[in-house]
Amino acid sequence: MNPTRILHPPATLGVIGGGQLGRMFLQAAQRMGYTAGVLSETEDGPGAQVAHWSIVSPPDHLPGLRLLADRAEAITVEFENVSAPALRWLARKRLVRPGWRTVWVSQNRLREKTFLESHGLPLAPWRPVRTERELIDALQTLGLPLILKTAASGYDGKGQVRVDRADDLASAWAALRKVECVAEGWVEFACEVSVVVARGADGGAVAYPVGLNRHEQHILDATVMPAPVGPIVTQEAREWALAVADALGTVGVLTVEFFLTANGHLLINEIAPRPHNSGHLTIEAAVSSQFEQQVRALCGLPMGGTDLVMPAAMVNMLGDLWSGGEPNWDAALGSDPGVKLHLYGKRTAVPGRKMGHLTVLDPDPSQALARALAARARLQRR
Ligand code: AMP
Repeated sequence: MNPTRILHPPATLGVIGGGQLGRMFLQAAQRMGYTAGVLSETEDGPGAQVAHWSIVSPPDHLPGLRLLADRAEAITVEFENVSAPALRWLARKRLVRPGWRTVWVSQNRLREKTFLESHGLPLAPWRPVRTERELIDALQTLGLPLILKTAASGYDGKGQVRVDRADDLASAWAALRKVECVAEGWVEFACEVSVVVARGADGGAVAYPVGLNRHEQHILDATVMPAPVGPIVTQEAREWALAVADALGTVGVLTVEFFLTANGHLLINEIAPRPHNSGHLTIEAAVSSQFEQQVRALCGLPMGGTDLVMPAAMVNMLGDLWSGGEPNWDAALGSDPGVKLHLYGKRTAVPGRKMGHLTVLDPDPSQALARALAARARLQRR
């Protein structure tokens, strides 16, 4: 594939994965005049509902990938747990962005941490855990508390155990089925922040302002942008995030999540080689959204502007909000005309499942958050 090729609308683009991230990529591509299809595991998932066409297939089945390569001129992914060999195979036929190497590094915490460390990027103290010997070594090096995380396929705090007592270490690893893990020293962070960057085919890269993230039970609950962390931390976070994208040579959108310690040090928690939940507010709040940047990078276009038109806040809506029936949309939208509703079209609301989000723009970022939280609270007023 000629990597300098530029795809103009109405070229056909494809995304592997039909969840909400795939859906918002498809919507951005369509808005720009592209034809946009999805390879989705389900016929009526969030992505397939809005796609011009869909191929129903697991993400790494060769027949499905063949069909995708037949239909799409360029292919991206909505999540990192796509088989790297499958992407490598696709890249022989079509533009694939991000490339398989970026995905391969970021789908495994051991590889990711080794990679970041080799590029001098700041991480929380960590040790690999693949054997009993390494488990003991991790305890001796990191002390307690520590957190054990499975190396592969963890997200939203799944596959993680906090260990407070040495006696609990062996059983914690056993609970993770003794799979390959990383152990991390516990970080007493002041807050969590993230930076979304977009890097084009020519290596030109741009970073959004820093987002301040609040989690509930390991799941992102709210993001405020710009984060009130001061100019030095802001600049440092954006520089590190751009450095990660450069080191990986990624083409596309990439997100770096950080812990900010009480004494002002940034430590990289993890990276995602794709648009991120903390960047959803860029749809309304930034000159170009993170999904538009994904389209631009995929097509070889220059990156768009990352400035905010106004500070903003985003709050997630999890399936829990549906526990007493359909949320009260009128109450949430009616009393604040600035509230923007995004629903992903998921048919069943399960606790912890991301069903949608609300975004509010406000000149005062903390007011944006207060208004978004108030709107979400009104959803349950029946
Ligand atoms: P992760 O899936 O690695 O992003 O972890 C999910 C959440 O668990 C993070 O957003 C933190 O709130 C918390 N967490 C993860 N690792 C650590 C750590 N080393 N120290 C303190 N909290 C952590």
